[in-house]
Amino acid sequence: MDMLQSFDPATGEVVGSVPLTPPDEVQDVVDRARTAQVEWGAVGLDHRAQILARAADLYDARIDAHADLITREMGKPLKEARAEAHRLGGPALGRELEEIVEALRPEVLESGGARSTIHHDPLGVVGAITPWNFPMAMPSWMVLPALAAGNAVVFKPSEETPLCGQAYADVLLEILPPDVLLVIHGADDQGKALVASDVDMIAFTGSREVGKHIMREASGTLKRVVLELGGKDPMIVLDDADIAQAAAFAAHNSFRNCGQVCVATERIFVVESIADAFEEALAALASAMRVGSGIDDVDVGPMVNARQRDHVLAQIEAAVDAGAKVLAGANGHHDNFVTPTVLTGVTDEMDIGTVETFGPVACVTRVASIDEAVQRANDTPFGLGAVVFGKDEERAEAVGRRLTAGMVGINRSVGGVPGTPWVGARESGFGFHKSRDGHRQFTQTRVLTRPA
Ligand code: NAD
Repeated sequence: MDMLQSFDPATGEVVGSVPLTPPDEVQDVVDRARTAQVEWGAVGLDHRAQILARAADLYDARIDAHADLITREMGKPLKEARAEAHRLGGPALGRELEEIVEALRPEVLESGGARSTIHHDPLGVVGAITPWNFPMAMPSWMVLPALAAGNAVVFKPSEETPLCGQAYADVLLEILPPDVLLVIHGADDQGKALVASDVDMIAFTGSREVGKHIMREASGTLKRVVLELGGKDPMIVLDDADIAQAAAFAAHNSFRNCGQVCVATERIFVVESIADAFEEALAALASAMRVGSGIDDVDVGPMVNARQRDHVLAQIEAAVDAGAKVLAGANGHHDNFVTPTVLTGVTDEMDIGTVETFGPVACVTRVASIDEAVQRANDTPFGLGAVVFGKDEERAEAVGRRLTAGMVGINRSVGGVPGTPWVGARESGFGFHKSRDGHRQFTQTRVLTRPA
């Protein structure tokens, strides 16, 4: 049996391996899921939610083990890995299930002597394909609502983090009937086979390029697709911003998870009058960051692999060649470790100004006015998140309303309160994660009408 090996990006050591699923066996796996779905779909929403709620304690009991695995398999610092592992279970899981049940309850409408019931029925089999950067959170955002809605799920974790994907699924496999959740392992060939199979829906989180490919391939049978894709998030720093607060956010959100976050701050537009002070504060924070193995007490771990590292280094080098000024970092790399880097004078002519970096680089561009900041922030095919910093929150919010992103944060990160969707605009996505609208994507809406 061919095995897929997983490597620690900090040391290059093998962390473990899983059996590779031959692509020509993927349809058989989907067939098994389809058979199992019939009963799972019939047990009812509340009963399914009760079964899935049992996962909370199991995830909680494994927080340390899961955090350790996340750090060893993809490199993020242990404290970030713990936060990710922590949110899988506990009260967060219970809240999520309540939200799903609420979203999927039938609704009744009456008019003109007729009564219609809107049902949110299972779709059938959902294929879930996930990335490596949040190797347990991303699966949970798609697999849990798909299962709760009564679907069977065939789940393919990233080939970079198969052990995390398997460990996430193992908890659910303990509590679910056989074949309701099936895991396949591999890279693009297995992903393509899943998309080509007769699943009813593909729920995908990953890069824009692969998302486009999936949408094309799914069109043959008009499979449902949900695509959560990449970004090139802007941050606008207004002239009345609290500079220390804005710089702290920029450092945090450009460098956490080594910049490998879909809503990482990738482009910073600072109004000229405060640019010197902002750049100085940001460069000082970047220079103070401790880089090393995520298992140790560090702020920034390694990049996930050499390919990703080389992409980031090439973008930095090309930007510097084209005139960007280095305020911190940009001093090469040691194995997969890249020093947190701050560049200023970044322009749209540079790759780093327009193409997703997904690495520990904060790119500053000075602007003469708010209008220029808004125009440049929106000048991108992406539209995932955006943030605006300014003390006058009414004014900052008005600027935020002019941005084309799906999620906008004012003096904070982009994520909304529980119940709000995670949503990208333009080429950053198609559909939602979480929220009523997101949960309903995993269902077939069916309207039944009879005389009232
Ligand atoms: P990727 O697109 O390379 O891979 C994602 C998954 O798709 C992997 O499991 C991979 O094996 C699989 N895959 C690759 N080619 C495929 C194909 N042709 N058909 C089907 N499946 C295929 O992305 P990645 O490098 O794993 O993750 C990083 C990307 O994910 C970034 O662009 C990031 O912005 C994005 N992301 C987005 C969100 C969001 O919520 N919008 C969240 C996390 C990550």
